[in-house]
Amino acid sequence: MDSSKRKDSSNTVFADPNSENNDEEKEDLCPGFKDADAFVKYGLGAVLSATKASASLPQTGDEYDFYRSFPGFQEFCERQGDKLLQGMSQIMQHHGCRSHMRDRNKLTGLEERFDLVVDSNDVILERVGILLDEADGVNRSQQPVLPAGFQAPKIVVSSWNRKGSGSGSRSETFRLLHAKNIVRPQLKFREKVDNSNTPFVPKIFIKPNAVKPLPSYFTNKQIRKERPEDLDVPAALADFIHQQRTQEHVEDMFSHPYQYELDHFTLTESLLSKPQPLMYKPLDETKCSFIETLEDLVALNEKLCKLSEFAVDLEHHSYRSFLGLTCLMQISTRDEDFIIDTIELRGELYILNEAFTDPAIVKIFHGADSDMEWLQRDLGLYVVNLFDTHQASRALNLARHSLDHLLKHYCTVESDKRYQLADWRIRPLPEEMVQYARSDTHFLPYIYDCVREQLLDFNHGQPGLLQCVWNKSKDISLKKYVKPIFTEESYLELQRKQKRSFNTQQLTAFRLLFAWRDKLARQEDESTGFVLPTHMMNKISEEMPKEPQGIIACCNPVPPLVRQQVNELHLLVQQAREMPLLKAEIAAQKKKGLTPIKKADVTLFGPHDTSRVSESDLHNCSTDEMPIKQGMLFAEDEPKMDVDEENTSGLVAKAKITQFEEPETQNDPESLPVGQMKARRIIESFENPFRMYLPSNNVHISKNAKFDPSSKIFEISKRWKLQSIEQQQKELDAKKKAKEEKKELSKKVADERKKAKQSYQESLQNVPTVREQAAESVKPGTKRERVASDVGESTPKPSKKLLKSAEKPEKTEPPPPEPFKPFDYRKSDLKVFAGNKPTDNTQFDPNRQSNDFRKKKKPKGQKSNSGGGKSMSYMAGKSDRGFKHNWPKR
Ligand code: AMP
Ligand code: MN
Ligand code: ZN
Repeated sequence: MDSSKRKDSSNTVFADPNSENNDEEKEDLCPGFKDADAFVKYGLGAVLSATKASASLPQTGDEYDFYRSFPGFQEFCERQGDKLLQGMSQIMQHHGCRSHMRDRNKLTGLEERFDLVVDSNDVILERVGILLDEADGVNRSQQPVLPAGFQAPKIVVSSWNRKGSGSGSRSETFRLLHAKNIVRPQLKFREKVDNSNTPFVPKIFIKPNAVKPLPSYFTNKQIRKERPEDLDVPAALADFIHQQRTQEHVEDMFSHPYQYELDHFTLTESLLSKPQPLMYKPLDETKCSFIETLEDLVALNEKLCKLSEFAVDLEHHSYRSFLGLTCLMQISTRDEDFIIDTIELRGELYILNEAFTDPAIVKIFHGADSDMEWLQRDLGLYVVNLFDTHQASRALNLARHSLDHLLKHYCTVESDKRYQLADWRIRPLPEEMVQYARSDTHFLPYIYDCVREQLLDFNHGQPGLLQCVWNKSKDISLKKYVKPIFTEESYLELQRKQKRSFNTQQLTAFRLLFAWRDKLARQEDESTGFVLPTHMMNKISEEMPKEPQGIIACCNPVPPLVRQQVNELHLLVQQAREMPLLKAEIAAQKKKGLTPIKKADVTLFGPHDTSRVSESDLHNCSTDEMPIKQGMLFAEDEPKMDVDEENTSGLVAKAKITQFEEPETQNDPESLPVGQMKARRIIESFENPFRMYLPSNNVHISKNAKFDPSSKIFEISKRWKLQSIEQQQKELDAKKKAKEEKKELSKKVADERKKAKQSYQESLQNVPTVREQAAESVKPGTKRERVASDVGESTPKPSKKLLKSAEKPEKTEPPPPEPFKPFDYRKSDLKVFAGNKPTDNTQFDPNRQSNDFRKKKKPKGQKSNSGGGKSMSYMAGKSDRGFKHNWPKR
């Protein structure tokens, strides 16, 4: 790896926008190159070869350890490592981030270094953004303050979205930069996004291809209606209480709806036998349809149900949304490509569950980890019978496991990933982006054939290796989406990652800012990175500016919500300043005179900002500090955390976020007792994800097309729900019977599947009817009539066929699944939602669950992958909540 080349190229990428600024002077800025684009192209080429070279280095783990035992290799590594660190440090310095990459031997410092690099990247990219905006005639600092809920049309579309050279016209180069007026897609959503601080509950309400019926919680709104005792309680809470009362299993609410089916999924022989690869059709000879209406979606679903496999991919946006948004779904069959607008059809996509959960149809993904979560979270979709080509690539030990690489390897297609991080909310979707999206799935069915063939060849025809890939894929499809939950401790998790020793006041500031950011991000439906990037939060906590203006000075560029709420933030900082410093803390700080408290490691300002250097001595909390060691980015002395941690844990309990005591609540004329106020807040914080299916006077819901009898979706879901309601009723009856007739329960799973399949086949026969209806209903005239009759029936009688198919599952009521240890909500401390410190460590914490899960699932040597996501400022924000995605290498 040639570090000087790397440096050059990185500089080029980042410096390029400068050249746009000076417009005509481009050629002077890139001596030896035709224009800036040519320079960038050269730079990217250099980066690419460096990346390739690094990918071919011995992998971490055994391989690396083995090589490392040779002194020659060791020496080489160290020399190159030094060179790289030096190069990086130079780049950082060039951008005003003072740094020296020292201490190369400290492995413990690796994560810290990584964070610093991420921080620096953020700074650099932010500057790039400002410069691009400036070049585009937008002066960010003059942004008007917009009313809450309405966001500035300014969109961060950065250099990576730019079309490279070669294609010629300048207008094309900047095409995406002009897509500034993006309407927030959330405004269109019929079902409001649920950012509440409560665990995620699956969106599913009908379950195609069920072997085990969907728990009543998800289907039975009839019962809910008949609970007069709960009328004055919010719906979600009423459900919860009802379940406690009726002893229904609460775990149903949080379990994977297709867990049972996946656990009992068996591969058919054909999936383990050697395929004859079926060549893909050339892109330009393949029909590509954009799906944005329900009729088209229903027709697509029908098409898919007849296939034996198809490929799927998703595109996602995470900067201007708290939880993230699935913007696009690409599906490729052997003959056709489909691009589905998942923003437009968000509420309807669940109908694809029919194909997605059909165990007889293989769903091919590449690197499906995140996709599984996004499908569940936004679309209520699940996958049964997944094949992940990323897992196949790993099993085959290919040089790289990215889709790019597979495309090159099997299809000799040079792909271009520059749109991967584009803003996928843009509508109408530019043609280039459609083409990009399409190529993400178009070749996958063929690749699926090739890798299966090779996996068998690799293993001398034995299915072991292939089986292994199927199993890994299944594990991925069992992944559950877990919502980020705010607890009193969340900030510590992030703070620890910063590896900065904060004193009590600074830590308090950090905690208050963290809570402010989380609350505002949920409320405004923005990412935490958009509200206040972590590095700015660090800066404010560290400096604790005395004036609101000082807070603004800590942020460059100033996030709109920071500007808007700077007075609130100032109050928080003031509150933190009032915290007394502990004696031990002061002493510890003095002791640290030898090893000074580390100030912000990276100056997060541009070169024009010199405030830190000149002012640092004036700040309150730095008066008894030694002067900062210049250029100590990666200091040898690890900050001594033990002292601080001890003290802080004592302090955390005392601290209180008064910021969020809503003024109205405080001045409530009724002046409720604290306990009741908290209870009220808990209740208010509950947002039922199924609200859309409940009758209500809420405007959002009454507008809901699912209950608008004139809407097509009403017809479809009604018909489908008939099945599940029937199934539900039968299930209840069966449960009673089951107690008496235990023999029934011991029937074999193979039997069940057979029958379920049969019942599914029968139910499939209804699909054309649904489709016909959807198609028919488009015709004017016919629609009104039929709808009226449909609505007239308050309790429509299901057809015999429907009844029959619904009957199947309980006839074959499966043996009770393995004893399941439900989370006992009676033990849980709901105070956590009211902002009280939970005392019980066994508190249900979906984040923790997910982290454990991820840790377990994370394959060896993949660590570097997760870095990809962190390279953007908003991803850094996401990772704050333990939301590090394991981006598959592309
Ligand atoms: P892909 O799997 O390449 O289709 O990517 C799906 C989505 O994941 C993209 O639309 C991006 O939102 C996101 N994504 C992929 N790779 C990265 C990355 N390295 N960093 C951040 N987001 C990513
Ligand atoms: Mn993907
Ligand atoms: Zn994609």
